[in-house]
Amino acid sequence: MPPEVVEAMSKAALSSVNMVELQAAASRIIADNTGAEAGYVTAGAASGLTLGAAAIMAGLDPGNMDRLPDTTGMKNGFIIAREHRNGYDHSIRLSGAKLVEVGMDEVGAGAGARQVEAWEYEAAITDDTAGIAYVATPTSQPPLPRVVEIAHAHGLPVLVDAAAELPPISNLKHFIDQGADLVAFSGGKAIRGPQSTGILCGRRDLIASVALQHLDMDEHFDIWEPPADFIPKDKLVGIPRHGIGRGFKVSREEIVGLLTALKLFANSRSGPSMEELRGYLEYVVDGLSGLAVEPTVKVPDGEGFPTLHLRLDTDTLGRSAFEISGVLKQGSPGIFVNEGSLRNDTLVINPMNLDQARTEALTERFRAALSSSD
Ligand SMILES: *Cc1c(COP(=O)(O)O)cnc(C)c1O
Repeated sequence: MPPEVVEAMSKAALSSVNMVELQAAASRIIADNTGAEAGYVTAGAASGLTLGAAAIMAGLDPGNMDRLPDTTGMKNGFIIAREHRNGYDHSIRLSGAKLVEVGMDEVGAGAGARQVEAWEYEAAITDDTAGIAYVATPTSQPPLPRVVEIAHAHGLPVLVDAAAELPPISNLKHFIDQGADLVAFSGGKAIRGPQSTGILCGRRDLIASVALQHLDMDEHFDIWEPPADFIPKDKLVGIPRHGIGRGFKVSREEIVGLLTALKLFANSRSGPSMEELRGYLEYVVDGLSGLAVEPTVKVPDGEGFPTLHLRLDTDTLGRSAFEISGVLKQGSPGIFVNEGSLRNDTLVINPMNLDQARTEALTERFRAALSSSD
């Protein structure tokens, strides 16, 4: 976290605040930075997905809120493309929602040419459909605007998992611009906020439902005065009991830390520039010359992080990429590479958390691991 974030968190720890007012203030700041109507600080993007699905199913009905994760009497189906499915969709299921898969993963299976198509979403809509879940990456298909068009034609909201889609900074607004009804981001990834935080932004009525299912609800209706731009008391028949989000509590320190980090991130002031990060990776490349490894720095289009790909000559090394990654984790400091390409004998390094000292330590450990023959 940037030092400003740590400082803001320590100050918040020494103060007291009304939590609904703090989340209402957070909503205005998140709205400013995302272009959404409203926003909420969640306990990570994963809890944002649970709360978002819960809000879509329960709306502003406290009876529904109290019943979740039992969805009796509610529409509970979320259509999701098979090729979008991943371990984080457990968070959507946690709300009581049922995922309804569409499409095949023929490209992943190496048994076809087409990815999921927009008509397949439309064909899956039934009376039980609550919404559509969409996982955003630079290569996600079908394009989000096509999915939004179909969803909105049927009065259905679209919940977008964009947890790791920052940078580019412009993505703070991009998915909302494309019509998403709720978008979840991680606060503890590139935003550099507290590790346990996230952002959920989108429609005002859905964010109000999120707040009602997340905040402490020990209140008496007659004397309860939540900020009117945040929770529309006049649309509620009563106050729900503690909701499905009660176990995803977010502290005032975390909220203030996340908001401070968000402002720095949105103004490109939250950490090393892309050029500096690339410089660190090139330092590692120089340090590995003469070893049985072919290093490549890859720079994505747009504003994404550069990455270092180390293709190992495993015959010369006499060890697999799996073994070398295992060795790197054990030593001091432990080195944790992206292990998604180990099967291709490749270690991938994301420089997000590097500085000069860490880059030197990393280079030393790579040299040692790639030189020793044991
Ligand atoms: C990281 C990630 C999450 C979870 O985010 P947290 O902020 O750690 O809860 C969810 N979905 C995707 C695609 C992610 O990459």
